[in-house]
Amino acid sequence: LLSVQHLRKSYGDHEVLTDVSFDVPQGKVVVLLGPSGSGKSTLIRCLNGLETIQSGSIVFDGTNIGQASEKQWRSLRSTIGMVFQSYDLFPNLTVADNIRLGPVKVQKRAKDEVEQQMDTLLKDVQLSDYKNAYPRELSGGQKQRIAIVRALAMNPKLMLFDEVTASLDPEMVREVLELMLRLAKRHMTMIVVTHELEFAKRVADTVLFLENGVILERGSAKDFFTNPKTDRARRFLDSMS
Ligand code: ATP
Ligand code: MG
Repeated sequence: LLSVQHLRKSYGDHEVLTDVSFDVPQGKVVVLLGPSGSGKSTLIRCLNGLETIQSGSIVFDGTNIGQASEKQWRSLRSTIGMVFQSYDLFPNLTVADNIRLGPVKVQKRAKDEVEQQMDTLLKDVQLSDYKNAYPRELSGGQKQRIAIVRALAMNPKLMLFDEVTASLDPEMVREVLELMLRLAKRHMTMIVVTHELEFAKRVADTVLFLENGVILERGSAKDFFTNPKTDRARRFLDSMS
């Protein structure tokens, strides 16, 4: 579904991603691990058109989107969903209006159909009762589940997650991770940046270990966690456990 080849990204003279290549097959989950500053968020942002890239290609669903214009990105963003660490719900809109916005205003889909889908999605995350609540009335974990529902309501082909549980209290982390595990079971194609290693082990088909903008290791979750090939990855895993 997604193929990234020889991607380079710099900020001024500082090369943040160096010759990054990887594939994400349809229905698979790629987990991106690496120390702080290794370029994980930058890579995710490049895949959603939030950063321009210096060179390389990003082929999504058969089209090279590496040099897409801002206008093309606006329509691509309905097929590539993204959820960040900070809750990016609109504070002045209710939960329902937050979810409706993309499907109705951007995708111009029929209101009835969107309402139905929203009800199904809210039920799935057990937040049906919060339809008319405002984001400030929700806990962090509830807000993140709504942010995920809002992205899902666009029927994305690919979901990008950048440390979506990083600013949550521990007791709220689990409900968000469980939702992501359910999505993976339903074969949603996902790229996930996370520091939750137990979750990473369970959810990943492939692990990419990024260090200084270079993919140092790649492999199955089992291989990476039980038998990392580089010292750097071993030290990373030790520091996290
Ligand atoms: P963390 O785990 O802390 O979130 P990360 O792996 O997501 O780290 P990035 O945020 O992608 O790392 O940052 C990679 C490098 O790019 C860092 O050296 C950072 O300082 C630099 N960087 C990120 N954004 C910018 C920017 N807008 N302008 C200049 N440099 C940036
Ligand atoms: Mg980051």
